[in-house]
Amino acid sequence: MNPNPFKNCGGCGAILVATQFAYGVCPECDHHHAIDHKTWRALLLDEGTFAPCDETLTTTDPLTFVDDQPYAKRLANSQAKTGLRDAVVSGRARIDGLRVIYTAFAFEFMGGSMGSVVGEVIARAFEHAIADSSPIVLLSASGGARMQEGILSLMQMAKTVAAREKLRDARLPFISVMRHATTGGVAASFAFLGDINLAEPRALIGFAGPRVIEQTIGQTLPEGFQRSEFLLEHGTVDRIVHRHKLKGEIATILRLLSR
Ligand SMILES: [Zn+2]
Repeated sequence: MNPNPFKNCGGCGAILVATQFAYGVCPECDHHHAIDHKTWRALLLDEGTFAPCDETLTTTDPLTFVDDQPYAKRLANSQAKTGLRDAVVSGRARIDGLRVIYTAFAFEFMGGSMGSVVGEVIARAFEHAIADSSPIVLLSASGGARMQEGILSLMQMAKTVAAREKLRDARLPFISVMRHATTGGVAASFAFLGDINLAEPRALIGFAGPRVIEQTIGQTLPEGFQRSEFLLEHGTVDRIVHRHKLKGEIATILRLLSR
């Protein structure tokens, strides 16, 4: 529980009672703040329908990696904080009565970084969708590949895309929802491969961050570069959807795609 009853809006600076931010959206300026994996489920899924899959998978820390602290310790901290084994939640559920495989990144777990467990859960989610003849709704929010697992993290890009292609062969819908921020190896693998690619308003979506690109190419980037609105204008996302309308929008798309 958050002991602070007030919340400072990151968009307009207003200080409001925290409960006024319905699903993290500022009532004054509409800024979409990050919300945790439980709040996402409450927002999108029909109550009591979520049945988790693959929730016990845990990384073995194959490189016994240490930066300013051991990877094992970072994992233990994130696990204690979130109640999850890794940075993704996946399972069978219903959205407005429709059966789906629901898979969502938990950005609060190590910045939603994709290591071997996240990649495996996502690949299996596509496989579960094929087995069930269900569509998949996948919400991304990630800093990219998980550095602490090195090349094993990068391998997840190929694995998840291969699994996504099997779903395409099975002619089942994949709705990709890109939240703030969807970057790195997640943006560069399955996140843009939805049959329909949705984005949250003003979300940062792209491969490398704007500062890195500006330093590399020695040029100033255009206004709004890598934000949802810029991507919509340039045809890389299909639609920007307000968080409060997302469930209805997904249900409408699923009904249209399933005849
Ligand atoms: Zn605001």
